[in-house]
Amino acid sequence: MNEIIQEVEMGQWRRTHSSSEIRSCSENDIVVVMGWVSSVRDHGNLRFIQLQDRKGSTQVVAKKGECPDPVLEQIQSLKEHSSIAIKGKVKLQQKSPSGAEIVPIELKVFSHARNAAPFLIQGKRNSIGLDTRLDLRALDLRRNSLQTIFHIRHTILKSIREFLDKEGFTEVNTPKMIATSTEGGAALFPIFYYDREAFLAQSPQLYKEQLTMSFENVFEIGPIFRAEPSRTNRHLSEAISIDTEMAFADYNDAMRLLENLLFHVFDSIRSINKHELSSSEIQIPQINIPLPRYSYAEILQTLHESGENVRYGDDLSPQVLKLSASNMNLDGFYFITDWPASIKPFYVKPDSKSEAKSESFDLMYRTLEISSGSTRINTKSELIDRMRKQGLNVQKFDYHLKVFDYGIPPHAGFGVGLERFLMAITGLDNIRDAAFYPRDIDRLAP
Ligand code: ATP
Ligand code: MG
Repeated sequence: MNEIIQEVEMGQWRRTHSSSEIRSCSENDIVVVMGWVSSVRDHGNLRFIQLQDRKGSTQVVAKKGECPDPVLEQIQSLKEHSSIAIKGKVKLQQKSPSGAEIVPIELKVFSHARNAAPFLIQGKRNSIGLDTRLDLRALDLRRNSLQTIFHIRHTILKSIREFLDKEGFTEVNTPKMIATSTEGGAALFPIFYYDREAFLAQSPQLYKEQLTMSFENVFEIGPIFRAEPSRTNRHLSEAISIDTEMAFADYNDAMRLLENLLFHVFDSIRSINKHELSSSEIQIPQINIPLPRYSYAEILQTLHESGENVRYGDDLSPQVLKLSASNMNLDGFYFITDWPASIKPFYVKPDSKSEAKSESFDLMYRTLEISSGSTRINTKSELIDRMRKQGLNVQKFDYHLKVFDYGIPPHAGFGVGLERFLMAITGLDNIRDAAFYPRDIDRLAP
């Protein structure tokens, strides 16, 4: 422990002003500011500290003669990242970005940064290995660019709740520990549930459909768990899904809801995060609604025209989509509609005129899938039929199927991956940076 710096408790000290409030103080006002040291600059008997809090940062100027000697001495030993409080006098400074500086009178060091950080957080994100940053994620998240990204995430969630509330949706929570898979497939994490095997939910799909019986329009914002063995830049093992389901609606209604929701979210970000965005490199994409809609068949057609060998029923991977992107101007956000029923989950309603296709859509941003949605099957016999066709064990879905004996309304909905959406909005190329603590096949800590 550095003998000059003594760590102390907060005691009766409380912050009187945040960094953004200092500019509205008068000259010589006494204030208490709290935060962490984001930079220190030394000029002999003059030391500048940048004190960061959640609203921004304030410059503290400690000069021999102006600030008590013991305080100056401590300030000279302070390291970046230390958590501190300063009681000081406001000095208005037109030139300073915060409009004012603080001349310290007293200092409290709550937690002294003992070690030099393994990476600089002022540097560019991509100049440091992602794994190095993720190993000390809490520190990494002090980085300005990540702060902006996660503030935008906050706006997304807040504005989605606002929008869906106005549209008459009830927020729900469905179980995350479940007895059978939602969609079949292997991507499940088994867990111990007392003396039985259970799984982490890969989606709230079946529960949110059931809830349309009693609430009509529901939404859930919660984790989904998927055992994704491949390492990609767009898959996490634990992601946040924004799920909606609405009664007396089909997939066209769901698409309209989704594009209006996007529009509202973009509008909110532009106004709420305006200040941060003006000093960041993040360019929020433009969005005009209604969004372009291309059918799966149309996309396939352009792929065939450019000589690609993709068959009806093949999935459209980002690599494949890249090939049609230039011919079709697949920039920005757009929908791909009417997917083959064979590559959509069992609960997706086949088209009434052509069994091979389904009433479904994916919302895309360039070649990245952001959301999948559809009209759902709402008759029991059709659902059983589709389950059999997909090789699922019908008995295991008994708990779900019996609901269909009691008048479930026609319904439709979608699930948006929050991290994918955040990637699209902020231009991130790796989904791991869109999660606070990402989980993937190699990472289970921190
Ligand atoms: P992909 O084909 O890209 O793996 P998916 O079609 O399997 O996605 P859906 O079951 O349609 O995914 O899930 C709805 C949305 O949830 C997706 O559009 C995506 O935004 C998000 N999502 C799904 N799986 C993941 C994951 N492993 N990591 C992050 N987000 C995911
Ligand atoms: Mg999908």
